[in-house]
Amino acid sequence: MKLVNLRNTQIGRFDIFEPYHELTHFITTRLGGFSNKPYHELNLGYGTDDDPDTVTRNRFLLAEDLGIPLDWFVFPRQTHSSNVYKVVKSDRGLGSLSRDTAIPDTDALITNERHICIVVQVADCVPILIFDPVERVIAVAHAGWRGTSNKIVSNTIQHMRHMFGCRSNNLIAAVGPSIHSCCYQVGEDVYEAFGHWNRDRESIFSFQNHKLMLNLPLANRLLLLHEGVPSENISISDFCTYCRAEYFYSSRHGKGQTGRFVAGMMLW
Ligand SMILES: [Zn+2]
Repeated sequence: MKLVNLRNTQIGRFDIFEPYHELTHFITTRLGGFSNKPYHELNLGYGTDDDPDTVTRNRFLLAEDLGIPLDWFVFPRQTHSSNVYKVVKSDRGLGSLSRDTAIPDTDALITNERHICIVVQVADCVPILIFDPVERVIAVAHAGWRGTSNKIVSNTIQHMRHMFGCRSNNLIAAVGPSIHSCCYQVGEDVYEAFGHWNRDRESIFSFQNHKLMLNLPLANRLLLLHEGVPSENISISDFCTYCRAEYFYSSRHGKGQTGRFVAGMMLW
């Protein structure tokens, strides 16, 4: 993932999606918005203690930079579930100006509609973007340790197959910035929650200085591979949100007092 300067903001983009002109995608950084500390600058999440009017200004600023009207965006109300929602035309704009209208209890969005910008919000959790250039379907998912343990990305791909006839070997996936194993110490309860992962569990947990660490990007890469996404079609961002908290919101780094950045996709 490389960082790109827009007029007012800076976003991340993945080379793996570049050949597809019918698609736009982005990972926002915290640079370029109106929020004050500790939410500085481009906080896009209403679910924080930041001033909601400032979040709205930030969202309009991003929309302007991207050339996508804010009322084309759709936001879910994320609950660390593994629920997937198919976005239809009449959903356009839901959650874009208020948390109350966001798609309830949902952590992944799928659509094949053009001019609908689907997004998820994160701050350490893993944002995942998936594109099927054959069936022209896009999906975004939010996976923290709960969503990863419950395999939300697998559930998303299964929905893409069932709802739109997608084939896994055509899918292209990007795993955005999240907290990496260098900084993600977890408790034994988290290790226990991955019990049903069997042998895969041993490859995603490690000990560093007697601390139990979890590798969320790798865990989601394993899920993508298990669903049949070709290895060469998966791109993983090198950015750890905690190590690079000057670029990305990190819930751990901010001790819970932080903003949200978003990952989004849209078909033109
Ligand atoms: Zn780190």
